[in-house]
Amino acid sequence: MILRPLSHTPAHHPSVETLTAYAAGVIRAGFDVVTAVHVRGCAQCRRDVAAFECVGGVVLSETPGVAVSDEALARVMARMDGPAPSSRMRRSLDDLLYKAKRRWVAPGVWVAKVDTPHADDDRVYMLSAAPGAVTAMHTHSGVEFTQILSGALFDEGVTYSAGDFTERNIEHTHKPHTVSDEPCICLFATHGRLAPTDFIGRIAFALADV
Ligand SMILES: [Zn+2]
Repeated sequence: MILRPLSHTPAHHPSVETLTAYAAGVIRAGFDVVTAVHVRGCAQCRRDVAAFECVGGVVLSETPGVAVSDEALARVMARMDGPAPSSRMRRSLDDLLYKAKRRWVAPGVWVAKVDTPHADDDRVYMLSAAPGAVTAMHTHSGVEFTQILSGALFDEGVTYSAGDFTERNIEHTHKPHTVSDEPCICLFATHGRLAPTDFIGRIAFALADV
């Protein structure tokens, strides 16, 4: 099982802009998946998303000609209490990640492309790196979302643990590496293809077709 229950509270969350877009259903399809995995495991973000949905509902109800049903409002209010996500949502995310085919691309490193319908321009994939494994240095322009599924990762001076989320929207090159005793598995979404800048990266991304 890839999506394990967390034993701690995440310390790094999606931005307010991302959660607002997620709540409004206007986030890009590939990025929606990564955000959904975070929200599913993070009570704080579930509360925030429910609040944003509620605000969206009020705005909608104040728009002439648009009525929000009592049922819809009740559903939103129920989510304000921070309930666990629905079993349907859990199953579909598990399914999506479970079906991704893993390819070993270097000693201790596998990559699995995640099939996300309606996200042709986005790349969604999991990457697992064993402790001490060499990961691919890569560069990208535009947005990259990362959700840590297990283990821990050190990237540009910060340690990210299972449940944590990062988003970057500037052009930069980086080379995160595993700092946990177990392999670090991350779920990524990027807009456009990654551009590997080292030998390992060129092989890894060619083999994994990401
Ligand atoms: Zn969160």
